[in-house]
Amino acid sequence: MAEVPQVVIATRNAKKLAEMHRILLEHLTAVDVLGLDDVAAFEEPVEDEPTFAGNALLKARAAVAATGLPAIADDSGLCVDALNAMPGVLSARWSGPPKSDERNNELLLAQLADVPDERRGAHFVCAVAFVRPEGDELVIEGRMDGSVIREVRGAGGFGYDVLFVADERPGLTTAELTREEKDAISHRGKALREIAPRVAALLS
Ligand code: IMP
Repeated sequence: MAEVPQVVIATRNAKKLAEMHRILLEHLTAVDVLGLDDVAAFEEPVEDEPTFAGNALLKARAAVAATGLPAIADDSGLCVDALNAMPGVLSARWSGPPKSDERNNELLLAQLADVPDERRGAHFVCAVAFVRPEGDELVIEGRMDGSVIREVRGAGGFGYDVLFVADERPGLTTAELTREEKDAISHRGKALREIAPRVAALLS
């Protein structure tokens, strides 16, 4: 019997890993999806590229080099119109080290304190990269448009979800949606659903 192909998801963010695992498994049924805890530890690269796609590729390439297995990695962030698309690739560390979602959200609220409702537009971006040891590389981007509200609301999701209301689900923050509801409209969900069949084809 043929062996099931393996693929590594190269992220240490437990909540992101859970989201990615859940969405990929719906589309990659005949693939063994591993997390970084399932492979030997290796040094992860500094995410110093100016674009989401560049950082996603960096992370996927490092995982391939260390494990010899095909790898998927994502890079994502929130781009706020009134902040000229910042925090962008700096989203995770917007308020400085150590990384803290709570401090990031406080800082974002303070930065937007004087910005009126009609100028609080923002969007999440997620670039998902797939790299194979054979050398082929693929990057797909997904986007979720919405706006930043004035107080934190909700207990689900992670990061800036408590401050973000998606245009497709007005009235609720993405932290107030169920996991399935967020996956259906999220930047990560869109990118993963688009890349998954192409990953499956390349692995089969
Ligand atoms: P990354 O691990 O470098 O991709 O950092 C992504 C950062 O962007 C996270 O730490 C969050 O601050 C933010 N982010 C990305 N996707 C989401 C999301 O789906 N909800 C809320 N925040 C997100």
